[in-house]
Amino acid sequence: MQISPISTLDEEINQIRQMTAKIVGEDVIPNEHLLRRGLENAQLWGDLVRKVKESGLWAPHLPKEYGGMGIGFLKLAYMNEILAWSPFSGPLFGIVAPISGNQKILVKYGTADQKKKWLEPLVRGETQSCFAMTEPDTAGSDPRSLTTRAVRDGGEWVINGHKWMVSNAKRADFAIVMCRTEDSDDHDANGRMTQIIVPTDTPGFDYIRSVPIWGQENDDHGELILNNVRVPLENALGRVGTGHAAAQDRLGAGRVYHCMNCVGQMWRAFDMMVRHAMDREVHGGVLSGKQFIQGFIADSYMDIQASRLMTIRCAEIMEQGLDARTDISAIKVFVPNAMTRVVDRAIQVHGALGVSADTPLEGMYRGARTLRLADGPDEVHRILIAKNVRKHYSSGQSWDFGL
Ligand SMILES: Cc1cc2nc3c(=O)[nH]c(=O)nc-3n(C[C@H](O)[C@H](O)[C@H](O)COP(=O)(O)OP(=O)(O)OC[C@H]3O[C@@H](n4cnc5c(N)ncnc54)[C@H](O)[C@@H]3O)c2cc1C
Repeated sequence: MQISPISTLDEEINQIRQMTAKIVGEDVIPNEHLLRRGLENAQLWGDLVRKVKESGLWAPHLPKEYGGMGIGFLKLAYMNEILAWSPFSGPLFGIVAPISGNQKILVKYGTADQKKKWLEPLVRGETQSCFAMTEPDTAGSDPRSLTTRAVRDGGEWVINGHKWMVSNAKRADFAIVMCRTEDSDDHDANGRMTQIIVPTDTPGFDYIRSVPIWGQENDDHGELILNNVRVPLENALGRVGTGHAAAQDRLGAGRVYHCMNCVGQMWRAFDMMVRHAMDREVHGGVLSGKQFIQGFIADSYMDIQASRLMTIRCAEIMEQGLDARTDISAIKVFVPNAMTRVVDRAIQVHGALGVSADTPLEGMYRGARTLRLADGPDEVHRILIAKNVRKHYSSGQSWDFGL
């Protein structure tokens, strides 16, 4: 993997990108066929994690006081562009959804006791967690409609509900569960939802099955029943009634992470496509000499650069602590769709090899399609963009969005 320094970035992030590219290019990508076998190769996983930690590249999303790199949001986006070249980089560098999202939410909203009990072991890798919001019987696109309910009984919450698509539920030691708590007497006037920490071994917390998702055979997306699950009142994360706002906080950052991840994967697909097109002889010349294929190269280049600039801009807005909601929705629609096009062209150029599991392309394709649903479907984000633009114009402003 060749990475040139970016002249507009400082030395720290250029160095981080170089070091990341060295490990991803020399140690991770050449070993992907072994890493795919997971725990069978525990020794290799352990060696690589140790190397990442010794290089000071562990948990780039977390502040230093919680064992992370403390590089902030924008630098993380630039690093993520390199990490995403391999699907194995996330776990090897300590940044895996939904655990990393839970860590961030505990950092921001957790009490000192919650941090000690739930966050610290999670960061050390001693525990696992999941985030349970979506339900089979209500629309995930409209999270205010969810029906899982938590009511107070003495010093405890009693939770009843049905969740699914809960990534990593099977391995989780605790779940952060989004509950309707409007019956509680101290709820925030603007909110009806609260996130509550639930240890997965609590009686009544029943794991039903893993919902099989294409391209994610080794991952778990659990279906859960919560039947009179009792946890202490102090397990509420943040103020009662602020769960929805906290979830948006978490998902917003996650969406930028996912989009930069898409950009990195697009670069890899593009690299594979161009190399293959330069080598493959067909009808009296190499593929890259054919105009159809040159069109693919040009269109993919434009898709990637547009996605990259939009995502970096969004990370810049977030880094400045400004309202990035419109731009988060914009990248959440644009980038996975662009990735679908870029990977589709790369598959086409590879012929049958492109749909075989001998390359990572088929997995990328399914991942990009899935991301048009996960973390909010395209339609919902389009609606949000238009809503925010109309609000902007209604308040007397115009095309100048202060960007
Ligand atoms: C791989 C994967 C991992 C996931 N991990 C988690 C997790 O860890 N935790 C968790 O809680 N959830 C998780 N989810 C769930 C995900 O966030 C939801 O699937 C998503 O929010 C959409 O909700 P839904 O499936 O209920 O679709 P619905 O809300 O039923 O929507 C169905 C479709 O309706 C359309 N639509 C919706 N609203 C409108 C509108 N206003 N106008 C026009 N069309 C509209 C969209 O096309 C949408 O795709 C995961 C999903 C996937 C695929």
